[in-house]
Amino acid sequence: MYVDPDSDRLFQNDLHRPDRELVTIGVDAHCHLQFKNYDEDRDIVIRRAKEAGVGFIVCVGTTVADSKAAVALAEQYPGFMRASVGVHPTELSDAPQFDAVRELARKDSVAAIGECGLDYFSAEGRALKAEQRELFLAHMALAREVGKPLMIHCRPSPRSMDAYEDLYGILEKEKNRPPFVMHFFAGSVALAERFIALGAYFTFGGAVTLTHDYDEAVRRVPPERLMTETDAPFVSPVSIRGRRNEPANVVDIARQIAHLKGMAPEELAEHVWKNSTILRR
Ligand SMILES: [Zn+2]
Repeated sequence: MYVDPDSDRLFQNDLHRPDRELVTIGVDAHCHLQFKNYDEDRDIVIRRAKEAGVGFIVCVGTTVADSKAAVALAEQYPGFMRASVGVHPTELSDAPQFDAVRELARKDSVAAIGECGLDYFSAEGRALKAEQRELFLAHMALAREVGKPLMIHCRPSPRSMDAYEDLYGILEKEKNRPPFVMHFFAGSVALAERFIALGAYFTFGGAVTLTHDYDEAVRRVPPERLMTETDAPFVSPVSIRGRRNEPANVVDIARQIAHLKGMAPEELAEHVWKNSTILRR
């Protein structure tokens, strides 16, 4: 249980509580349900998401094999789940097999291209960063070709905004820019403003329940550009910190985002559902 210091509202998070308050329709725009973390109980996790009010999930691939697994999973749940296919910037060893991602990209079950982007936190040296930028450009060309949005991961070096600056530069220069989602945006408010001007969509996840660091960015993003995510199995919300995350928890995240936006949870859910059209159609 977590007491919100601003409002004294109680966040009660026992997933199995039958009287658990529901947000009308939740969206988990970025999670990794195809990971082996769910091999034992994936169907139960999916059922819990539905019971919690989640109406749409995007399973995001991080390597070629993982993207294939995300597609295979999504195809079992048409109308409820879609995949995103790509090679994560920390998985550069898969870059030579990018053609396999190209093959997956046209499938109906594929909503977006990624997880792609820049991760300077893990990249030592200029060569690796250049390779990441090149791989990101390949994703962007593919997104344009198949008419699907980019699912972007961006993580700067410690105490820096370098990766966001570089990513912004690349997107800004691109005349025929595909729609794009900044997954778990952790940049400054000033950067948020610049990405908003480029037409970015933003997802925020469990981190908004753990710290106030993202409050201002959440407030600044227009409701028409906002989506919710869990990034499950990573980044559990405060309620279950340390345990495996899962899409059902997006309901708690949405409630906190609604609180920060000064909206009723239902109103936020309506916006998020509408915004998720770019991934659902
Ligand atoms: Zn992710």
